[in-house]
Amino acid sequence: VLDPDPDSPAGELATDHVCADYTDHTALEYIAKTCDAVSTEFENVPAATLAWLADKCVVRPGAKAVSISQNRILEKSFLRDQGIPTAKFAIVHSAVDIDAAIKTTDTPAILKVARFGYDGKGQIRVNSTEETHAALQAMNNEPCVLEQLLDLQCEVSVVIARGYDGSMMTYPVAENRHHHGILDISIVPARVSAAIQATASEMAKVIAAKLEYIGVMAVEFFVLEGNALVVNEIAPRPHNSGHYTLDACVTSQFEQQVRTLCGLPFGDTRLLSPVVMVNLLGDVWPHDHAPAWERILSHPQIKLHLYGKRKARKGRKMGHYNVLATSLDEAIQLAQKVQTSLSRDN
Ligand code: ADP
Ligand code: MG
Repeated sequence: VLDPDPDSPAGELATDHVCADYTDHTALEYIAKTCDAVSTEFENVPAATLAWLADKCVVRPGAKAVSISQNRILEKSFLRDQGIPTAKFAIVHSAVDIDAAIKTTDTPAILKVARFGYDGKGQIRVNSTEETHAALQAMNNEPCVLEQLLDLQCEVSVVIARGYDGSMMTYPVAENRHHHGILDISIVPARVSAAIQATASEMAKVIAAKLEYIGVMAVEFFVLEGNALVVNEIAPRPHNSGHYTLDACVTSQFEQQVRTLCGLPFGDTRLLSPVVMVNLLGDVWPHDHAPAWERILSHPQIKLHLYGKRKARKGRKMGHYNVLATSLDEAIQLAQKVQTSLSRDN
């Protein structure tokens, strides 16, 4: 594992943790020499690093696909060029672009920084030209995308795997609920029509194919009034909304990532049980102490996953749990009950 973080959770599990920057040449030489195949689990690895490694070993996903999905300007433009529906958007390279941008999107809108935003960070809702100027300044005048604020009926996502031979396999559609811009829970199967599920899966396939993507990726969608579906964003990696696959599918998204990386056949993506995935944020670490795990572990149908991050911070994803049940309603109810009991400790 190459990770500049000395407390890298993945590094702790790896036989060899190379603790260096993603652009450190000595480290990259070492990775190229010791690895047959390289993947990323984090979308902000510089595309140039992947391109450099690709001359020396198998790299999946490739630099081109990652460079598009790690930059909202390139990502949104790519989607538009492929005829994939998105929210109305305009590119804001600097303050001079704001007037025209607002003509395109109208207000309310959301200004999203082009790079390094995640979990709702790097985005500000705006209601006027003045607010957009202030928001751009708050983003240090970094290039941004201004996006129309949509009235969402719900959000769904599709995790998809694409092999080196172009074959594709999708996972069941997840229904995602966010809280303060951070994924809170995923409900699977999603409570949307079969037609929406089919359209979402098809769009994910078109995107993966057009990106010539190899590996596991996720596509986030907004479901609008009247059941229209628009793409929100692409994640070039296994995705939080696919964490349910760890316990509820024949093959998890992580195993699938390894399979595509190694050129092995896909594992089955079939859902074995209704499931609700609940994120555990640092918010439920009362006074920096771990939550009372028996609140989760006393339920035999819940599987707990902790990432081994040292420090709990508000809004930081520390782990998640998957609630499995014979019916989706039962899984939702139990998930909510446990969530409430954990937040009561604070
Ligand atoms: P991140 O990289 O932080 O996940 P997203 O663009 O996915 O950024 O935004 C996070 C969340 O904010 C979305 O899942 C959605 O709930 C909300 N959101 C983002 N863009 C819009 C929009 N155009 N209209 C309505 N809600 C939005
Ligand atoms: Mg998102």
